[in-house]
Amino acid sequence: MAIVIKSKVLIVDPETPPIQQGVVVVEGKQVLAAGEPGKVEVPPESTVLDCSEETVMPGLIDSHLHITANNAFRVPLFEHYTIDTPTAVMRGVTTMRSDLASGVTTARTLGDRLDLELRFREAIERGEIVGPRLVICIRALRPSHGTAKLLAYPADGPDEVRLRIRENFALGAHVVKLFVSNVQNGETFLDYIQGDLTGVPSYSKGEIVAAVEQAKFLGMRVATHAIGGPAMRWAMEAGVDSVEHANLMEEQDLEYFERYGTYLSDPNLHLFFDDEIGFPSFETWKYDWWRAKVLDARERTARFLPEVVKRTGKVCLAGDSTHAFLWREAKYLVQLGCSTKAALLAVTKNSAQLLGLGDKIGTLEPGKYADIISVAGNPLEDITALRNVKLVMKEGRQYDLRD
Ligand SMILES: [Zn+2]
Repeated sequence: MAIVIKSKVLIVDPETPPIQQGVVVVEGKQVLAAGEPGKVEVPPESTVLDCSEETVMPGLIDSHLHITANNAFRVPLFEHYTIDTPTAVMRGVTTMRSDLASGVTTARTLGDRLDLELRFREAIERGEIVGPRLVICIRALRPSHGTAKLLAYPADGPDEVRLRIRENFALGAHVVKLFVSNVQNGETFLDYIQGDLTGVPSYSKGEIVAAVEQAKFLGMRVATHAIGGPAMRWAMEAGVDSVEHANLMEEQDLEYFERYGTYLSDPNLHLFFDDEIGFPSFETWKYDWWRAKVLDARERTARFLPEVVKRTGKVCLAGDSTHAFLWREAKYLVQLGCSTKAALLAVTKNSAQLLGLGDKIGTLEPGKYADIISVAGNPLEDITALRNVKLVMKEGRQYDLRD
């Protein structure tokens, strides 16, 4: 039986004008129709979902998550890297549920221990646990001296990089994740952050080129962790689909984003702009040298990110190691001077296109998956309305995730 969702305001696509009292008709897993009341044909005997006090819009898409890392547990950050696997899995189950409850109906996951991404995707697809639809990398790749040891596997030299990408493909990965910047000399968390927030390349240009060639050959997309510097530009030249973070951008990088049409994903705005869950709340904030790095990255992000939005529009927001907080990313993008429309695109349609799912999700056009949320208030007027998610529907199934 069809479902009819009534709204106060309907956002079919952030790029088209919102529709007052718009309705969406869902049949099975798909959107059958969406538009003005009276103009949309409603099948007889449909079930009505009354969201007539809310804004109805496409489900949110998170372009960069780590399933088992979650700052919400308020543990020292280093614990993400040392915690035992059963505990990490239990946290993952909780975080996946919290992501879906926050309106995230699709997430791209970019690195985790073992092959957990694959196991989580399977468990969600089988209905054993609840969570967003996952687009996965399975084994993120880093050079031996690169950072993120528990989130990524070592692969050195063009040949090994190619081999590891083929293995991931055979396992069922959709996307390749490469850590092209950040190095780590040592085992401690301090060693980790000493190599973080720098533009120092970890992969060579040759390795990046080989990775992109291999990925494209297999029909996979490529996401590159790059804070800034030459490796970020090598990645764009090589044709990667997204640069993740880019918090140390320079003037010349704007031209690169424009020329190569690369998506800028996961600028991690909460880390720089949110005192409650960002860097200032971390135990490492006490180090002067670290604080200086964070402040520099914050200043550049504030200066250059709105420019990228203006020039290409290709920005995608993400939670990374925080969950159920995507609305905060959207809030900070607006605070940096971007429009609410740009922020909505960055949590829906842009990410759909980046993930290669532009024909299936991201807007509420007929034939797409019925990934639909409702929120109290109107996010086009006040972006923080995204915080108040009421209805959560994924592939036509409504989830009740309160408590
Ligand atoms: Zn990440």
